[in-house]
Amino acid sequence: MKLLTFIHEGKSQIGRLEGERIHVIRNFKTMLEVIRHQNLADLEFSPETLEIGEIIQLAPIPEPGRNVICLGKNYRDHALELKNKIKTNLGVPEEPIYFTKLAHRATGNLEPVDSYFESYQTMDYEVELGVIVAREARDIPPSEARNHIFGYTVGNDFCMRELQTNHVQWFKGKSLDTHTALGPVIVTADEIAYPPDLRITCTVNGEVRQDSRTNQLIFDIDRIFSDFSKGTTLLPGDIILTGTPAGVGMGFEPSRFLKPGDEVVAEIEGIGRLINRIK
Ligand code: MG
Repeated sequence: MKLLTFIHEGKSQIGRLEGERIHVIRNFKTMLEVIRHQNLADLEFSPETLEIGEIIQLAPIPEPGRNVICLGKNYRDHALELKNKIKTNLGVPEEPIYFTKLAHRATGNLEPVDSYFESYQTMDYEVELGVIVAREARDIPPSEARNHIFGYTVGNDFCMRELQTNHVQWFKGKSLDTHTALGPVIVTADEIAYPPDLRITCTVNGEVRQDSRTNQLIFDIDRIFSDFSKGTTLLPGDIILTGTPAGVGMGFEPSRFLKPGDEVVAEIEGIGRLINRIK
């Protein structure tokens, strides 16, 4: 099932996308309510459907309940492309690297992303597989991780590299408003074979910059869920961005950062295309 959040007639609603048509869910108001309810069989749909052109898309979870949990350097080729670019970068990690993004509002498909170009000029993109946590749990064994996934989405972990490097720490550089893009939908876990082996790409103005597969994660989903949940409770609706492959702007020599007017398309096979224009 492909689930999305959107605005229609001025009201935020949720629905199931089938082709170009949306079946509106009438017994839940938000995606987080659906996830917490834990039973997709209970969803009730309105008899009428909407066309995708009739709605304004939002991020599937427009207001994340907590900071978005992120993996740093979780593709080998990406870890190596940044090795000489960031002084604290020691290459391929031996344990998962975690950081978070503040995102009181996540940016959806076709929504603009701010470049803050008057203040900063090192904005970068990172396409990532986003995993949505299904239920509250701690100390999840690796073999059980798959049973704790509600679904998958496409994430674009936009960031400002000068903040990331100047402050030695990633939190501020990853947390500018609008810089957490998610969407266009959440595909429920039952529709994607586990572990996901999907083509993951990112283009800037039509030029392919990132092109890899989600089976190339250094620390896979079993490891992420078991390792992170050891002593730390995951909650339903938590969003985990699993890291980005090589080809980010900072990985080029010289670097190729984003500027106002650029169109960035983050795409994962079987989930969809997340399109954002930089303003
Ligand atoms: Mg990232």
